Amino acid sequence: MTDQPRVEIYTKGNCSHCDRVKDLFESKGVDYEEYNVSENDERFEEMVERADGRKTAPEVFIDDEHVGGWDDTHELDETGELDELLGITDDEVVEHRTLIIAGTGIAGLTAAIYAGRANNEPLIIEGDEPGGQLTLTTDVANYPGFPEGIGGPELVNRMKEQATQFGAELKNGIIESVNDSSRPFRVELRNGDVYTADAVIAASGASARTLGIPGEDELMGYGLSTCATCDGAFFRDEDMLVVGGGDAAMEEATFLTKFADTVYIAHRREEFRAEDYWVDRVHEKVEEGEIEIMKNTELIELHGSQEDGVDHVTLVENDAGHPTDRLDDPETEEFDFDVGAVFFAIGHTPNTDYLEDTGVQLDDEGYLETKGGDGGGQTETHVPGLFGAGDVVDFHYQQAVTAAGMGSKAALDADEYLEDLERADSSAEEAEAAAADD
Ligand code: NDP
Repeated sequence: MTDQPRVEIYTKGNCSHCDRVKDLFESKGVDYEEYNVSENDERFEEMVERADGRKTAPEVFIDDEHVGGWDDTHELDETGELDELLGITDDEVVEHRTLIIAGTGIAGLTAAIYAGRANNEPLIIEGDEPGGQLTLTTDVANYPGFPEGIGGPELVNRMKEQATQFGAELKNGIIESVNDSSRPFRVELRNGDVYTADAVIAASGASARTLGIPGEDELMGYGLSTCATCDGAFFRDEDMLVVGGGDAAMEEATFLTKFADTVYIAHRREEFRAEDYWVDRVHEKVEEGEIEIMKNTELIELHGSQEDGVDHVTLVENDAGHPTDRLDDPETEEFDFDVGAVFFAIGHTPNTDYLEDTGVQLDDEGYLETKGGDGGGQTETHVPGLFGAGDVVDFHYQQAVTAAGMGSKAALDADEYLEDLERADSSAEEAEAAAADD
């Protein structure tokens, strides 16, 4: 906003239009001087004189210019002229959209397909991992309708095509923040562009966790990976290390036996988190001599170079579990171990930073909380008009097909919300028109 002009409002007691006009200026963050004319004859005369004989409150003046009463002020606001008079510049707002979707993973793209078909003309902001987790997968064998399997990137591209066909628009960019303090939502991108939107679907997914250990930054993509299915084949006949004890670690270790000399699994405690199904598969491979399990073991350093990849790693082991918490314990053994590739499979962190200043609620792990349960509105968050779908909400299933299901639910919930909004707006306009006629 540029320098604010002087706003004066003549009001009287028990005057709902006076309250509305004051609320309007307050909502714009504009200061005003208020003169209550109810019991002040001098002020009343002054108002009548300045307002060319009008004897009704409110009367609004901006920099000494007579604007008029509530109806006039409201009309100016609708056309945007009031903001001009007030010097409110909103050049940064690139565009208003009915619906903005954060994320172009399976959840976001499915939401876009449904929202496009519902004429909500969604704008999808791609985020810093366009296409989401599925772009890291070579072969998706369990997505219904593809008995011969389909490549992750191909599935994503087909969904993009389908979404744009129904009117969705994709935009490169990363959402920095969403402001829900007034409506429409203000969605600010990292490049400074601002969009406004009547509804927002958060389908921003979850990013693979890393350990933050020495060597990690340098070697990520050079022998260190968070995606065995994407990168396993590059390290044929090497010894490989998988870190983690959940389903992903077990699945990835099993998958890597196709390429590795031996796959080692380092897990920080005695019990695996993974389901029996995967633990059994891994034990079969152990019996076949393809996998070796290192329990109560943690990785503390990676050694190698970008030219030659991972050379070896440093591990710590303590039978009591969580050895990095027991580095001073004489029972903790530190040792170097030769491997040619390392895969982190230690879970994911939901991408919710941009929602920090909104009223959404996150669970202890940072996943976005939605209403869930049965019936409509399952994807509603604690902020009306803001919906959540996919891995950013779902810490458990995290499957392409479940993300797609949630994406469709979010678009349907958003559509219902937008229709309610439209109905409420037209009733307010009708009431307004009726009041003006009185
Ligand atoms: P999980 O959170 O289930 O497992 C993460 C594993 O990494 C845990 O064993 C955890 O140890 C370990 N870990 C976490 N942080 C660290 C750390 N700092 N240092 C060392 N180890 C660490 O994540 P997943 O990605 O395995 O699975 C996520 C979800 O996806 C699950 O619901 C899973 O069922 C599902 N999934 C299903 C698959 C399938 O069925 N095909 C395949 C892959 C995933 P600890 O156990 O001690 O906490």
